[in-house]
Amino acid sequence: MNFTYRTSSPEQTIALGREIGKRLRGGEVIAYRGGLGAGKTTITRGISDGLGLGDEVTSPTFALVNEYRKKNCKISLIHFDMYRITSGEDLETTGFFDYMDEETVLAVEWSENIDDDLPDDCIRITINRISDDERELIIETCGGDDRFENISY
Ligand code: ADP
Ligand code: MG
Repeated sequence: MNFTYRTSSPEQTIALGREIGKRLRGGEVIAYRGGLGAGKTTITRGISDGLGLGDEVTSPTFALVNEYRKKNCKISLIHFDMYRITSGEDLETTGFFDYMDEETVLAVEWSENIDDDLPDDCIRITINRISDDERELIIETCGGDDRFENISY
């Protein structure tokens, strides 16, 4: 299913992300598409907060992967930047496959670089820049997964 939303500030994108985070159960892979400055890291801030992990999320550009875990929080968030990564051995060294489990959410920036290795049931979020402050966000789910329908933010 496809759900399209619009935001007109980073704060609003964080608010949308927060609602997405609240609807996650663990085990999801979120695959972002959208160029530099689209808002991938910004929405991840909201998702992290919605999972109960706080909003202090920074870009994984240099580390390639940042982990967010908290005591008393069942679900962890692993945030990847695949800008310099390609499918195969390169991807394996990031630990991508090892992190996948039912109590973890993977959020992947530049997921187009590892398209062949994304699970079929991943949640795709495409962010289109409409203007300096406006974004269109399209959430695509598999089958009849309607968790992200009619989100208020
Ligand atoms: P990416 O991770 O996709 O490269 P970031 O989230 O790091 O992008 O940066 C997005 C930039 O766009 C930030 O500077 C943010 O302040 C700005 N911005 C402006 N409007 C929005 C919006 N509606 N949603 C998200 N970011 C926005
Ligand atoms: Mg980023």
